[in-house]
Amino acid sequence: MSHGLVTMAYIAASILFILSLSGLSRQDSSRRGNYFGMTGMAIAIVATIFSGQVNAYVGLLIALSIGGFIGARAAAKVEMTQMPELVALMHSLVGMAAVLVGYANFLDHSSSLSGAEKTIHEVEIYIGIFIGAVTFSGSVIAFGKLCGRINGKPVLLPARHWLNLALLVITVVLGNVFIADSASGLLPLLVMTAIALVFGVHMVLAIGGADMPVVVSMLNSYSGWAAAATGFMLSNDLLIVTGALVGSSGAILSYIMCRAMNRHFLSVIAGGFGTASGGEVAEVEGEVIPIEAEETAQLLHDSKNIVIIPGYGMAVAQAQHTVYEITKLLISKGKKVRFAIHPVAGRMPGHMNVLLAEAKVPYDIVFEMDEINEDFPDVDVAIVIGANDIVNPSALDDPNSPIAGMPVLECWKAQTTIVLKRSMASGYAGVGNPLFVHENTRMLFGDANDRLQALLKALQN
Ligand code: NDP
Repeated sequence: MSHGLVTMAYIAASILFILSLSGLSRQDSSRRGNYFGMTGMAIAIVATIFSGQVNAYVGLLIALSIGGFIGARAAAKVEMTQMPELVALMHSLVGMAAVLVGYANFLDHSSSLSGAEKTIHEVEIYIGIFIGAVTFSGSVIAFGKLCGRINGKPVLLPARHWLNLALLVITVVLGNVFIADSASGLLPLLVMTAIALVFGVHMVLAIGGADMPVVVSMLNSYSGWAAAATGFMLSNDLLIVTGALVGSSGAILSYIMCRAMNRHFLSVIAGGFGTASGGEVAEVEGEVIPIEAEETAQLLHDSKNIVIIPGYGMAVAQAQHTVYEITKLLISKGKKVRFAIHPVAGRMPGHMNVLLAEAKVPYDIVFEMDEINEDFPDVDVAIVIGANDIVNPSALDDPNSPIAGMPVLECWKAQTTIVLKRSMASGYAGVGNPLFVHENTRMLFGDANDRLQALLKALQN
């Protein structure tokens, strides 16, 4: 393939990636966005293979087949509830690739670069390996936290900020040593990699459970910068552009997540949030009032304005299809039914929107928190399906709560709130929820899908 053709293909792929991102920003165009992304990636792979930079075709074919097989199997098998862990794992692979490419570049002595160009290339290698290693170890810890294998509580070492600063200073000093004499630079490179790995682990361990949404989007951003760094090392323009797109969109998403949770980005990175800030978190005391499906059906029958709030439990129970069956039935009976989505509901950005789209819930009845929160005083029944932290009034009332200051869906202002969950267990942030003992709240205990099936049956009778 001529150089001009490869450049054209790379430009086409870059445009498709930009169109993909813009498509993914809205539910109704997200499918199209995915197709753009897939086409762009196919063009990128084919153009790179035939660009003349590649000659080990057999090795490449084997690697592509193994990677493609594992990726396709993982995507087909993964449960919707395991998606966030899978995404974290994918980020770790991008980080690992950046580290490996960095070392391969360092050990490859065939390059004829000299003077300033050589120094720039060495800086690329050093920074690329650093970002890659932080992304890799941070993503592995995020994976552990998201699937519950590692405790979600923040691990706060004494003088942790000083420790981070010391690690950073050592990294810069080692960088100087590496660039001054790169021929014997393997040792500083190895030590820096070890420090970067520790740094990634420490950074994510220090972030509390309630702030994990920011960690997920932040690692997304890091994986983009790691890919961009790989692009610099390989002199591949498309990889630089794609990495920068992922890196900057991840950074914007982190900012949006921080705003949604009323956190400062720098404070989240510094760690320690998601835990009580000193005083005791208020214990939840009060009477729990259970309700059954038949009674709930009667309540819905007598109401006009209904809002459904899905949370992580809806994903666990895979209740989205039953929810939509109930929604259709209620709408056919002349009720106004809307969905309220909290920005950090579930375990990844957009988790609930994806589930509702899968069940074919029309987009025009799905509202973001800001669009619907003020309407709750006029709502007859709010139905909370497997949500907990995102409807916790203590976020607003209890300054000692780990989620204090986070805006929540104020469903307790509705005339009645029905909460579907299996027990009185706390949510991801590990805090008690006074909503469950509120005088207007009724608890419909059990698996969300089972209970909703029973409710559907009762509504049909
Ligand atoms: P929560 O984790 O706060 O609560 C989910 C609730 O669902 C639990 O209390 C659980 O109660 C219930 N549940 C679980 N399984 C079932 C089931 N089969 N049937 C019925 N109920 C069930 O979820 P929210 O969506 O309210 O809040 C999200 C939390 O996750 C926030 O703290 C957020 O910060 C965090 N997070 C979000 C990320 C994101 O990007 N969106 C990423 C990482 C973390 P019980 O066991 O009693 O049934």
